[in-house]
Amino acid sequence: MNNMNEIFPEGYAWIDGKFVKLAEAKIPILDWGFLRSDATYDVVHVWQGRFFRLDLHIDRFYQSTQKLRMPCQMNRDKLKKILAGCVKKAGLESAYVEMIQTRGVSPNFVRDPRQASPRVMAFAVPFGWILKHEDFEKGLDVLLTDIKRIPPSSVDPTIKNYHWMDLVTGMLNAYEKGNDTAILVDENNNITEGPGFNLFCVDDEGVFTPDYGVLEGITRQTVFDLAKELNIPISKTPISIEQLKSAKELFATSTAGGIMPITKVNGELIADGKVGINTRKFHKIYWEKHKDSSWSVSINEILSK
Ligand SMILES: *Cc1c(COP(=O)(O)O)cnc(C)c1O
Repeated sequence: MNNMNEIFPEGYAWIDGKFVKLAEAKIPILDWGFLRSDATYDVVHVWQGRFFRLDLHIDRFYQSTQKLRMPCQMNRDKLKKILAGCVKKAGLESAYVEMIQTRGVSPNFVRDPRQASPRVMAFAVPFGWILKHEDFEKGLDVLLTDIKRIPPSSVDPTIKNYHWMDLVTGMLNAYEKGNDTAILVDENNNITEGPGFNLFCVDDEGVFTPDYGVLEGITRQTVFDLAKELNIPISKTPISIEQLKSAKELFATSTAGGIMPITKVNGELIADGKVGINTRKFHKIYWEKHKDSSWSVSINEILSK
């Protein structure tokens, strides 16, 4: 057996009503979350002791559980204390914090999902990046795959979900070819998103992001909010492969790393291959907002209430 300390990062979880070390956080094999990916989750980050836009993440989590017809029974204050507690117990200054609700286990393994008792859990691990801070100037080199993202007519992409086989296949293809990550397309070959990030494209008209077939990221929403402050025109619209390749700037957005430049697609440079001016502006103001109390809240403030 592997040494658990080599598998699990330093981190803490909350499960079955208790805080435990990550290695001790386990779910039953009969949980639908495991057997059927019948679960929803959300990820919020903590930067230098402060959660960023926590209420928006919790709103989306509650909405996801409602859309899956298993509305979360835990109230907001309790959920916040659990999330903050995981970070505190793990002793992390900056963290990636995940809340999960699975369908749970049904009595005697009956097939009716309504019979199951949903299970809420959470964990905190050290902050993770899709593109590391030190690689910012280099940017991401993405593989544009011909894999079609699961269409919204099959699985509602606005529910943050674990139906990741399309995304994981994209990642495997990307890593095999030496790219950093992958982008998937929709049924009309317009671009959608990648494994855990949304996409933005900048041209002479402004800033654009796909309007269809994607998770509505909180970082994506944040870019819209920041664009207003920066007076930059922005909209949601279909983006073709040609538009992607001929963009002036491309960037990815995710709670796992914020605003991250994409400088290459399939090994070919986007514009001159340098980080674009708009990407830089968004990146700078995005991190500045992490200290602003109208956008962030400290762990200690949550725990002391
Ligand atoms: C979480 C996620 C994103 C990014 O959303 P944020 O709220 O900005 O972290 C984008 N796409 C998918 C499929 C995701 O799961």
